[in-house]
Amino acid sequence: MTFALFHAPLREPSQFVGYAGNIIDRQSEKRSDDSVERALAENSARLMLMRGGRILLKVRDDGYDAHFTSSDSAPYAPALDQAVLLGQSAQGPVLAVPVGIDIETLPEEIKAIDYRSVNVQGLLDPETLGTLAQGAALLAWHASHGFCSKCGSPSDMRAGGYRRLCPNCKTEHFPRTDPVAIMLAVTRERCLLGRSPHFLPGMYSALAGFIEPGETIEGAVRRETLEEAGIRLGRVVYHASQPWPFPYSLMIGCFGEALNEDISFDGTELEDCRWFSRPDVRAMLSGDKSLGIFVPPKAAIAHHLIRGWVESD
Ligand SMILES: [Zn+2]
Repeated sequence: MTFALFHAPLREPSQFVGYAGNIIDRQSEKRSDDSVERALAENSARLMLMRGGRILLKVRDDGYDAHFTSSDSAPYAPALDQAVLLGQSAQGPVLAVPVGIDIETLPEEIKAIDYRSVNVQGLLDPETLGTLAQGAALLAWHASHGFCSKCGSPSDMRAGGYRRLCPNCKTEHFPRTDPVAIMLAVTRERCLLGRSPHFLPGMYSALAGFIEPGETIEGAVRRETLEEAGIRLGRVVYHASQPWPFPYSLMIGCFGEALNEDISFDGTELEDCRWFSRPDVRAMLSGDKSLGIFVPPKAAIAHHLIRGWVESD
């Protein structure tokens, strides 16, 4: 089996963002209703254990390990009937499994760490962080879609966790991915950054918003930028994307060419929004805390949009 197929070409921008390193062989054409049982029966099966937005990690001398065997996951009350099969890794099948254990009672050598911190602190290799995003998104979808949205009956998991079937009305339901546009409006010399009230003090980032039904990516980028900041955009170009497991989004990062520079924002969605020059942004990217303002870390796609613009001509 070769995994080269799943490796991105060198320098594809998406490969530098957090949660984007997933190279598991999903074998989507081979999913059957007993995929999970068959995978769990393999000695090489590795389980990623999750609960309440956190993943259980084994503390090692040289870092963290996110994979458990079937037997060493037993003390943490894995709900194997709710396990989903992520695919085949070079070491064997990988599954995501919700666990029932109260995370306050975990032993010293196991930590339950929230998905955001795992990404920002770089606790896992990119490939494992990518499968975490896949598993987290699927488990979150199942947790909130246990009932048929057509007739209200409890539905059953099928196809290794990639489908739910209603036994009453036979409707099939599929896991969803919610697209979010994140965009950097730019002029020749400046880029537009805003502050949401829930950001860390001093952090400025690219604007973002959900893509709505019936909308193109470009349309959403233009609408959100106009609504949030009063800036009209001309040309919009795609740059990179990022799986975002909160709970199951895909961030789609774009640049937009600003047609006006007079900002207007209402103070609710954004508490501040300003133009920043290239030297300003270079300083913010440098991590110099004395400035009091900074941009999101490398784990976030916003960082790569901002850096991509600064480093371009
Ligand atoms: Zn139904």
